[in-house]
Amino acid sequence: MLEELKERVAEANRQLGPSGLVKLTWGNVSEIDRASGIVGIKPSGVDYACLKASDIVLVDLDGNRIEGTLNPSSDTKTHLHLYRSWPDIGGVTHTHSPFATAFSQAGRPLPCLGTTHADHFYGTVPVCRALTSEEVADDYEHNTGVAIVEHFARESIDPMQMPAVLQHYHAPFTWGKSGLDSIHNSIALEMCAQMALSTVQLAPDTAPLPSHLLDKHYLRKHGPGAYYGQGGKAGH
Ligand SMILES: [Zn+2]
Repeated sequence: MLEELKERVAEANRQLGPSGLVKLTWGNVSEIDRASGIVGIKPSGVDYACLKASDIVLVDLDGNRIEGTLNPSSDTKTHLHLYRSWPDIGGVTHTHSPFATAFSQAGRPLPCLGTTHADHFYGTVPVCRALTSEEVADDYEHNTGVAIVEHFARESIDPMQMPAVLQHYHAPFTWGKSGLDSIHNSIALEMCAQMALSTVQLAPDTAPLPSHLLDKHYLRKHGPGAYYGQGGKAGH
């Protein structure tokens, strides 16, 4: 079971390179095995292309290393806080993809301007606050997770309907049913951010997508009566 987890996490991280979302080693993917509470995550600073299952670090939900000789990603504590807080998520991706990061740095929520966005995210992708100097000094990566979860609780946002957040001055985090699913949400987020920026350049007063179109596009893929795709696979 854990061997399969390591294989899946290695494969998911190898996909970060061709996805175009990351430069250098600015990104990481993890996945959790809920039965054992064990998380597989990318080791810190290792090139994606040559990542093997044996490189994947296994940690428990408290961050104790269970297996692996390399150090886990420096963002591990953020991933763990999301897993502890949201029991339905199975994978987390963090990148500094340029368009989503531009919205993050500007502190601008990503509005839903069209049906591409509505196919993946149920409304505006929120911005969560930057950390205070005390939080950074105390435990930067853990408190990043705390700030994300607090924002979703305070604003009553369902993380299963909004599998993405933009952290102010930082970058996006996405999640999903698995590690691969969380990468797909990172790719969708980056495309939507790029399209939104082009849209407001063409027409700065573009109104958000009307709610009947938002509901139709989101719910036909993700609602209780979802009928889109082949067995849950995305695509047109
Ligand atoms: Zn980052």
